[in-house]
Amino acid sequence: MNFCPNCGRKLELGLIVLRERPMCKTEDGGCGFIDFGHYTLGAGGLVVLDGPDGVRKALLIQRGEEPNRGGWTIPGGFVEFDETADKAVVREVEEETGLQTRNLGMVAYRNRANPGDNSSYVVFLLEVTGGELRTEPDPEIAGAGFFSLEEMQQMPRLAPLSYELAAAAIEDRLQLIQAKQVQGVNGAPPFTLYIQEGSGNRV
Ligand SMILES: [Zn+2]
Repeated sequence: MNFCPNCGRKLELGLIVLRERPMCKTEDGGCGFIDFGHYTLGAGGLVVLDGPDGVRKALLIQRGEEPNRGGWTIPGGFVEFDETADKAVVREVEEETGLQTRNLGMVAYRNRANPGDNSSYVVFLLEVTGGELRTEPDPEIAGAGFFSLEEMQQMPRLAPLSYELAAAAIEDRLQLIQAKQVQGVNGAPPFTLYIQEGSGNRV
């Protein structure tokens, strides 16, 4: 980032929280903005159903757009800045597949520091509550459907991360990390805290 997104001034390097970061220096008349870097948060949804033949299947979508056009993944997308990840995943799954869902809990988190951004992805287990699976393609989504483990193993363009997650869901290997409401400070709204409480791990 070269210019301040708030006031348009040229950013200068300043030492902030132990390293040099582009900032809009107040001593030069700037607004104080600090560029801490680029972070993204995505949310993915796992939906598993028992087929009429008793075989468990997971919901996948085929991407209609770049990046990875034609590739298969579990449904989901980016979390907007004014929504929480648990709301985003329900919204994205309905937009992409037509299925309305309820969030049962968080099951996975993946994170990677890329050259240009720090990318996070959080995955929830969802239960279908309504809607109908939309199968006709649109520009964003080329296809959607439920697939067994065997079928997924024959899909050359299934993302490895999605396979890992969907296989764990089909084989009932996932542990739900439950949501808990925690009070904010100074009158701020509560947070949703995902925390796996159990018998403890004394170190
Ligand atoms: Zn500024």
